[in-house]
Amino acid sequence: MAADARALELSDNLQAVRERISSACTAVGRTNEEITLIVVTKFFPVGDVLRLHAMGVRDIGESRDQEAAAKIAELDPVVRADLQVHFIGQLQSNKASHVGGYADCVHSVDRAKIARALDRGGVGASRTIDALVQVDLSGDDDARGGVAAADPEELLQLADLIASAQALRLRGVMAVAPRVGDPAAAFARLRDLAAEVRARHPDASWISAGMSGDLEQAVANGATHLRVGSAILGSRPPQR
Ligand SMILES: *Cc1c(COP(=O)(O)O)cnc(C)c1O
Repeated sequence: MAADARALELSDNLQAVRERISSACTAVGRTNEEITLIVVTKFFPVGDVLRLHAMGVRDIGESRDQEAAAKIAELDPVVRADLQVHFIGQLQSNKASHVGGYADCVHSVDRAKIARALDRGGVGASRTIDALVQVDLSGDDDARGGVAAADPEELLQLADLIASAQALRLRGVMAVAPRVGDPAAAFARLRDLAAEVRARHPDASWISAGMSGDLEQAVANGATHLRVGSAILGSRPPQR
């Protein structure tokens, strides 16, 4: 693809985010290799996915089923095979099995019904899907989904269910920092919960935390996967 103005913009932004990640790692004695950057392409066209792929991005994040499925269907199979598609949005159980037909990893599993539907989708498509349990760190049910952080038993039960599902592979936990309060404290809580899950499921070592505005705090608190959208792609239309 020609080096159009949009490609230059994306590449500058990507480099700036990579530098932020490097500095954040250095500050706490971690290495870049411990971190996977997922570039969140929701609301942006497939052309941007191709530009990012050409720059070496291999992990993309999407949050809406219809949009994600349409975008992925447009990709050349060779490019598609080269990408990990992470589904990070809230799921309804009637959509989850469809998502299981194309996502490589789903970060937003927050109840048994979703886990079962996703598993059905994976079985139906003969695919294995990486799955993370989403934790709600807000304590006020701010409607962004997740198992309440105050209820580790529920979290562990859901982790057990995922680990025993035929088409799912339990990878760890995911959270969004609450709208108010210190993101570092929230991510520290997530790290503690991740350790509880890992004590039962040693392979579930992923901590998906940190977005454009708080990736440094996430790196400082053990995040292994960052989900960064606007700092790379620019601002999105307001979400519902
Ligand atoms: C949109 C979204 C992101 C990316 O957010 P930015 O602030 O644009 O980096 C990360 N995680 C989830 C769950 C999202 O829905």
